[in-house]
Amino acid sequence: MSDILETIKARDPHEREFYQAVMEVLQSVKPVLDQNPQYRQSAVLDRIVEPERIVTFRIPWLDDEGSVKVNRGFCVEMSSVIGPYKSGLRFHPSVNQSILKFLAFEQVFKNALTTLPLGGGAAGSDFDPKGKSDDEMMRFCQNFMTELYLHIGVNTDIVAGDIGVGSREIGYLFGMYKKLSNKFTGALTGKGLNWGGSLIRAQAAGYGCVYFAAEMLATRNMTFDGQKCLVSGSGNVAQHTAEKLIELGAKVLTLSDSSGYIHDPEGIDKNKLAYVKLLKNVRRGRIGEYADKYPAAVYKAVDHHLDYNPLWSHRAACAFPCATQNEISEKDAYNLINNNIKLVCEGANMPCTSEATEIFLDKSMLYGPGKAANAGGVAVSGLEMVQNSMRLNWLGEEVDHRLKIIMKQIHQSCLDAADAYGTPGNYARGANIKGFVKVVEAMLDQGVI
Ligand code: NAP
Repeated sequence: MSDILETIKARDPHEREFYQAVMEVLQSVKPVLDQNPQYRQSAVLDRIVEPERIVTFRIPWLDDEGSVKVNRGFCVEMSSVIGPYKSGLRFHPSVNQSILKFLAFEQVFKNALTTLPLGGGAAGSDFDPKGKSDDEMMRFCQNFMTELYLHIGVNTDIVAGDIGVGSREIGYLFGMYKKLSNKFTGALTGKGLNWGGSLIRAQAAGYGCVYFAAEMLATRNMTFDGQKCLVSGSGNVAQHTAEKLIELGAKVLTLSDSSGYIHDPEGIDKNKLAYVKLLKNVRRGRIGEYADKYPAAVYKAVDHHLDYNPLWSHRAACAFPCATQNEISEKDAYNLINNNIKLVCEGANMPCTSEATEIFLDKSMLYGPGKAANAGGVAVSGLEMVQNSMRLNWLGEEVDHRLKIIMKQIHQSCLDAADAYGTPGNYARGANIKGFVKVVEAMLDQGVI
């Protein structure tokens, strides 16, 4: 196992995020490998860490001044062993091959956990959506799709939004995909409700995360009623995590963006959250404006001299990192624990550093890893695909009910796998083992390819 990690490091020394994601999975599945020598003999680890295919491409586009801009696009197809790739699509200046390989790797095991027949991938670009006009966004999305459409399709790769890709972008991308392919198919999910989208898709990752967390709390006879919660981010996942928490009686104290965070000691209620949605989704403003609107709240800009994020230093019972990778450091983990946090549930992908994760596991906290806790997004994407193939739309209540059942099943299967391998209550290990075994068994069935 350490050989494989060394090989990855030597081959792609700058791919830190990918290395971190692989290390986390491989460490968890060691007992499975020890009990199943055939896995090592078939070199499943060597194969599983190598993407089936990576495509990189140029995206030239015109800004509003008529200048030509050029960005880099990526499509990482990690594993199609249990179904067509299902990829998140990220537009953010930090996007590079390492980040997309880590997302694709996580996605493989997450999708396996959902019980849906979906493989894993990731796509994206280093394009920065901040400050772009609708026209610039449209021209970029159209140019991006002129290459991506060669690699996606209902039976090859189905893409959905991730950071920087919301309903506006999915609209522009789908329009161009339909024109180029001359097909109206479900190759993209997160579509508008009038043109093939599913009710509850936009809410799914956040709602699912809270459903998963509620199951975790129930194992300790706790509920959300009256619990203070810290949420980071203010995008799709954060908004819907906060929404469901408020609905279940929790008091949400914080939200953030890459410029800073707000702390509202009175709690972010339904009306305040409606303001946040308008601010972020329509006006595309900064979270700091919340404190101008609601003076009881305090805004703190990011301080790059600090080696911790003060958002995680407020006293609360539950924490939901919903912004980006590695946003909870070792120091943040100790700050959370010292402030009485009982539960950390990951709305974002890999938001905790390896050190922070170790601390939560050591302290036997309720720690819900992203690949289980935020699987609701891909699960409802799967339900959108089902509705598209049947050419009908389910009611929101039906989709939400199915989402709840799926999150309950994922929660139970993580617990069962953790129990079976002697680490009861360790959701991180349970999630990795459950997803890994399903993927690896399919690899063995399909031979060396
Ligand atoms: P989003 O709507 O684009 O929102 C992202 C939020 O995170 C924004 O508030 C953004 O602030 C903040 N953020 C991004 N990069 C940051 C950084 N480097 N430092 C601090 N804040 C940062 O994206 P999203 O869909 O909510 O995704 C959030 C996380 O959830 C990601 O890890 C994603 O992979 C994961 N996820 C998403 C889904 C889904 O269905 N969308 C499903 C499962 C998991 P700015 O606006 O300032 O950039």
